[in-house]
Amino acid sequence: MMVGIHYSLPEEYLAMDIDEYANELLTKLFAQAHAQFGNAIKLHWFYGSDFCPGCGQPIDAIKVKGENALSLNAYIYRKRHVLIGYFLCSRCATKVFAASKKHPTQQSPLHAVIEKNLVAAYKQHLASLDA
Ligand SMILES: [Zn+2]
Repeated sequence: MMVGIHYSLPEEYLAMDIDEYANELLTKLFAQAHAQFGNAIKLHWFYGSDFCPGCGQPIDAIKVKGENALSLNAYIYRKRHVLIGYFLCSRCATKVFAASKKHPTQQSPLHAVIEKNLVAAYKQHLASLDA
């Protein structure tokens, strides 16, 4: 299951570490998702790559009402009860947004690619904790 939000970046955050900012947002998103889905979600983790999990290109800003924004999205990996937050590049964010508007209940092929990459990265993260 995917949850998508576009956050515009306020000036004061531009000076902040972007991962720190993302984590802060993810914590809020986690609280919301937890209220909605309960114990389906127990953890959250941020996919802190500079590259888009949809296409592998560098993350770039999207324009929302003329302002720069980053597309923060979250995926609920139910098997592990984890909410995985991630950024999308502007191209994939636009595609995902268009697809979910057209077919709200259907998963697009791009979603499948993103989920596969997120799950692989999360497993790698878990493996690195064990090492
Ligand atoms: Zn992309």
